[in-house]
Amino acid sequence: MPPADRTDLVQPDGRHVYLYGDFDPAPDGYQAPAMPNGVYQRRWNPLRREWVLVAASRQTRTFLPERADCPLCPSGPGHSSEIPAVRFEAAVFENRFPAMVPWPPAGGSCEVVVYTDEHEGSFATLPSARLDRLAEVWTDRYRDLTARRGIKYVYIFENRGEQVGVTLHHPHGQIYAYPFIPPVAATELGRHAGGCRQCELIRVELQARHRVLINEGGIVAYVPESARWPYEVHVATRAHRPALPDLPPAGRRGLLAAMQRITRAYDRLFDVPMPSMMAMHQSPAEGSAQAHLHVEFYPVLRDRGKLKYLAGSESGAGVFINDTLAEESAERLRALLE
Ligand SMILES: [Zn+2]
Ligand SMILES: [Zn+2]
Ligand SMILES: [Zn+2]
Repeated sequence: MPPADRTDLVQPDGRHVYLYGDFDPAPDGYQAPAMPNGVYQRRWNPLRREWVLVAASRQTRTFLPERADCPLCPSGPGHSSEIPAVRFEAAVFENRFPAMVPWPPAGGSCEVVVYTDEHEGSFATLPSARLDRLAEVWTDRYRDLTARRGIKYVYIFENRGEQVGVTLHHPHGQIYAYPFIPPVAATELGRHAGGCRQCELIRVELQARHRVLINEGGIVAYVPESARWPYEVHVATRAHRPALPDLPPAGRRGLLAAMQRITRAYDRLFDVPMPSMMAMHQSPAEGSAQAHLHVEFYPVLRDRGKLKYLAGSESGAGVFINDTLAEESAERLRALLE
């Protein structure tokens, strides 16, 4: 059952739009943007034993549009955006330039989550009412997509900053619903003797204390001992919870509030909006005893104006080289927390 405050719409090209909360519909004359033709495939790499998604229409996708043409802003007279509303609280729509389409052979789903109808700002500056709304939107999307036939893993993430390929500045994130369990999740969820590894990690970090940034309201944030990125931070539920729906609403709000505190500290670190990736790791659709909800932040700056590149060792050997000490990064970030 979809939540009572969700309104489902279907665009003429078949893509779904979900409006959450209050909204005012688009004016007469609204013309929904249409999905271009493309080739969508998944191809198997037998050496690496991994899937590669082919999406050969994305080259025409919207690239840093003028503010007046923002496809994530509300629609208005003379402006038909992706969202058929002149005002909304939060919106989700199926990406017009997806990496996967719901039909074979790719068989997945790509959604864009628009955090607010305000163009300016970011996850770090969302007012608390929007943040609470977003917690419920993510939870609903996770529930909805994991229940779909053929979907094995639902991945909520955000790319932020042109340095990580962001083509739209309006505050938004994405969700990929894969028809397979992606390699990072598969590795983390791999069977092992004993209990949950994330639970064990949290115990170790809380005991060591010096890498912990937040330990409040059942949420723990820390710079992992084996951080790959200079200021990598993980945020997890202290108790073993596989996914967002396993938390009460207050627990979800607490998780997002902690995430926001981390992103605010990032923006203060070098006095620039920190280009970064946010990855939410949750239970696969079929469940797993190892699944423990956590969020990983990968900020890509290692210093003011200096990007951390995925170079030869990282890309060709799979070995990260981190030129910072997690303990020192934690100390710097802790001093910047509100
Ligand atoms: Zn916008
Ligand atoms: Zn656990
Ligand atoms: Zn993880």
